[in-house]
Amino acid sequence: MSPGSDPVSPLEQALHAARALVLADLVAQQVAEADVVSMVEESVVQRRWWVEQWPDGAAYVAGLIAQDVQDALLERYGRWPLCPVCGTGDPHALDVEPELGPDPRWVCHKAGVRVAAVGALGAVTGGSSPS
Ligand SMILES: [Zn+2]
Repeated sequence: MSPGSDPVSPLEQALHAARALVLADLVAQQVAEADVVSMVEESVVQRRWWVEQWPDGAAYVAGLIAQDVQDALLERYGRWPLCPVCGTGDPHALDVEPELGPDPRWVCHKAGVRVAAVGALGAVTGGSSPS
């Protein structure tokens, strides 16, 4: 078994994609610092174990990792991601919907709107459009 010649398993692909999506959203709100990135890595490790027990859940890992990181950030930094839709009132975080399902999205429960797919926050926050 040489690691170079093994095809990447679908589980690893799902985890890799999920990691990239969550990192993209962190970058979009400019919180992708080293320790935040390590929170993502920590979640990926835990979800790798989880999805190995339940391979059918591979499509759910992006939403789960987003929620893991959201929880970890809430303890250490505060709310993430901040809602870019509501211009007034108290700043509040978006929620992942569905909590356990494929095709996760960020929603604002206050305004009752879907804001963006997980991984696409950059398109709505406009904080870091590539130059
Ligand atoms: Zn909102």
